[in-house]
This record gives sequence, structure tokens and C-alpha cells, in this order.
Amino acid sequence: MDDVRATLARDRLATLERLADLSDDFDRFVDASRDSNADDEHDPEGATIAFERSQVDALIQQARQHLAEVDAAMERLDGGTYGVCERCGSPIAAARLEARPTARTCVTC
Ligand SMILES: [Zn+2]
Repeated sequence: MDDVRATLARDRLATLERLADLSDDFDRFVDASRDSNADDEHDPEGATIAFERSQVDALIQQARQHLAEVDAAMERLDGGTYGVCERCGSPIAAARLEARPTARTCVTC
């Protein structure tokens, strides 16, 4: 289980770094859209910036969600329920946990 903890800790760190990068990107888009003519909604550059901003925003949401999953997995590890299916209570196959350390349910569920 120490391996799992190390994997989760690495994943958590990588996700935090990713979030920091994405936040930087997001801030740049916010600045860029402030600099461009914000009054003109038909400004093609403004539309591109808005689109890219929404893409980055979606990636930030994904990264946050992943971070929450990693945190939840670490809590289950501490609570001794890690690797147990949340739905049926069966042990989750090691291969599945290896492929997806944040898995909450077994393959059947
Ligand atoms: Zn199950």
C-alpha cells in the first residue's frame, strides 16, 4: 500500500502543477480579453480568446475534479477502505487499481 500512497502523492503533485500552469494560462486569457476590445462582441480575436479561455477553464475543472478523486483515494487509504468497491464491497482487482489508482468501484460495478 506504500506504493499506492507514493503513486497518489506523485499524481497529486503533478495535478497541482498542472493546475498552476492552467491558472497562469487562464490569467493570460483574462488579461488578453481585457486588452482586446471587450465592448465589441463581434471582434474575431475576442471570440477566439473567449473560446480558448473556456477550453482552459474546462481543463481546470477536470484537474480539480481529479485532485478531489486523488484526495478521496488517500482518505480511503488512511481509513482502510482503499481497494474496496464502494458499491458491492468486493475487493477491486489490483490490475484495475494499478491502471486507475483512484478507482472507487470494481470492474463488475
Ligand atoms: Zn463492485
